[in-house]
Amino acid sequence: MTRQSAQRHVAVVGGGLAGLAAAAALGSVGHKVTLFEARPFFGGRATSYPLNSADSTGPTIDNCQHVLLRCCTNLLDFYRRLHVEDRIHFSREFYWIEPGGRLSLMRAGRLPRPLHFTGSFAKLRFLSVRAKVDVARGLLAVQRDYHHRHDLDQITMLDWLQEKRQGPQAIERFWRQVLVSAINEDLERMAAVHGLQVFWLGFLSRGDSYQMGIPSVPLAHLYSAESWREYPLVELRPRCPVQEINIAGGQVASLKLQDGSFSADAYVSALPFERLDTVAPDANVKTDRFTHSPITGIHLWFDRPITRLPHATLLDRTIQWMFNKEGGRHIQLVVSASRKLVEMPRQEIIDLVLSELKDFFPAVANARLERAHVVKEIRATFSAGPGLEWQRPASATTIPNLFLAGDWTRSGWPATMEGAVRSGYLAAEAVTAHFGDPMRFLRPDVA
Ligand SMILES: Cc1cc2nc3c(=O)[nH]c(=O)nc-3n(C[C@H](O)[C@H](O)[C@H](O)COP(=O)(O)OP(=O)(O)OC[C@H]3O[C@@H](n4cnc5c(N)ncnc54)[C@H](O)[C@@H]3O)c2cc1C
Repeated sequence: MTRQSAQRHVAVVGGGLAGLAAAAALGSVGHKVTLFEARPFFGGRATSYPLNSADSTGPTIDNCQHVLLRCCTNLLDFYRRLHVEDRIHFSREFYWIEPGGRLSLMRAGRLPRPLHFTGSFAKLRFLSVRAKVDVARGLLAVQRDYHHRHDLDQITMLDWLQEKRQGPQAIERFWRQVLVSAINEDLERMAAVHGLQVFWLGFLSRGDSYQMGIPSVPLAHLYSAESWREYPLVELRPRCPVQEINIAGGQVASLKLQDGSFSADAYVSALPFERLDTVAPDANVKTDRFTHSPITGIHLWFDRPITRLPHATLLDRTIQWMFNKEGGRHIQLVVSASRKLVEMPRQEIIDLVLSELKDFFPAVANARLERAHVVKEIRATFSAGPGLEWQRPASATTIPNLFLAGDWTRSGWPATMEGAVRSGYLAAEAVTAHFGDPMRFLRPDVA
C-alpha cells in the first residue's frame, strides 16, 4: 500500500502529461490537488479532438500519431495508474519501405541482447553490406560512448556519426530515419547525447525495449474522467486558464484566474516554456535558450484500403512514418522536424504526400481521396541542440513553494511523453520534499 502524507493542498497549472502525472503522483499519497487547464480537454500536445467541432458524430483524431517504446517506464507507470495500459498495443516489428515498395522487417530474434536484432538486421534490404558494417560499428560505439563520454551534449549527432566514420547510406537510411522522428530534430542540430540515449535504451539495453506502443483509442480517452475515479483528491478543472502565478514576498501567494484567485500550499507550473514568462513573469526562470522544432501530421481518408501494413517508416522522401488507422482507409502520416512544410500551403502538402505515397503503395493511384486534414504543430517540442541540456531547469525554483514540470525541464529525457511524465513525477517528489516528507515516484530507466 502507498504511504500517505499529512494532507496539503497543491495547485497544478497545465493539464498536459506533465501536469497530469504530477497530479496523479501527489493525489496517490494523500495530497489534495487542483489542476487548472486552459483548454476544454486534457493531454496538451498529446491529445485528440473531434475533427469537426460542430459534428460530434464525425471522426475524433489525435493532433498527431503518438508512439512510445517499451523503455518508457514512467509513461507506462502513469498509464497503469489510470488503468489504461491495456489500451496500448505493442508491435514487435518495424517495417521499412523503399520507394518502389520493397519492404524490410526488423524484429528481435532469439539471440540475447545486444545481438537480438542480428538475424533480421542481416536481411534488411535497404542497406548495402558496407552500410550494415557501418551501422554495426556505430552501435558498438554507442555502447562504449553513452556512459563514458562527457562531451555528448556539446557535439551534434552528425559530428558523432562522422567521427565514427559512418557512410552516407548508413547515415541517411538508418540513423537519420530513426532519430529525426525520435528526437524531432535534424542530425545536424540534435545534441549527440539524445541520439545515443535512444539507441542505448531503445535498441541495445534490453531485448524488448524497442517494441513500439500505439494507443488503440484516441489519446484524450486515456485521461478520461473514468480513469481518474481512483483519485478522489484530484480535481481537474478544464476551461480554467491561469492568468498569472502571483509572487509576493518571495513566495507564490495565489493564482489569478478569470473569475477570482486561488491559493494552495504549493504550486506546480506544468506549462510549456513559451507560456511561463507570460504566466509567471516573476518566477525568475531562464527560458531564452529554448527554441521550437515543428511536426506536421497529415490525415488522409481514402475510399478503399491502400495498405495492409499497420505502420511503416518510409525511406528517402519527405514523409517519415505511415500509420494505418482504419483498415488501410484512414492513413496518418508524420513528418518530424518539418521546417520545410511550415510555410507550405496545406493543399501543396497534400499534393506532395499523395505523390510520394504512390511510390510506396501503388493502390493509392486508383484510390479516391475522400478527405484530408493537415496539422502543423509549429511548437511541437523544443529543439534539443548542443549545449542546452544543462540549461534545462530542475523542478525546484528559487521560489520555495513553486515547482516546475514540463517536457522542457531537466527530466533526463528529450521532449517526449516519457520526458513529460518524468518531469511531473520529479516535480511531485520536490513538492513532497518541500513538505518535509520526501517520496519517490520516478521509475528507473530500463538500464
Ligand atoms: C505533433 C506532435 C507529435 C508528437 N509525437 C510524439 C510521439 O510520438 N511520442 C512522444 O513520446 N512524444 C511525442 N510528442 C511530444 C509530446 O507530445 C510532448 O513532449 C508532451 O506531450 C509534452 O507534455 P507537457 O505536459 O510537458 O506539455 P503540454 O502537453 O504542452 O501541456 C501544457 C498544458 O498547459 C496548458 N496551458 C497553457 N497555458 C495555460 C494556462 N495559462 N493555464 C492553464 N493551462 C495552460 C496547455 O493547454 C497544455 O494542456 C509529440 C508532440 C507533438 C506536438
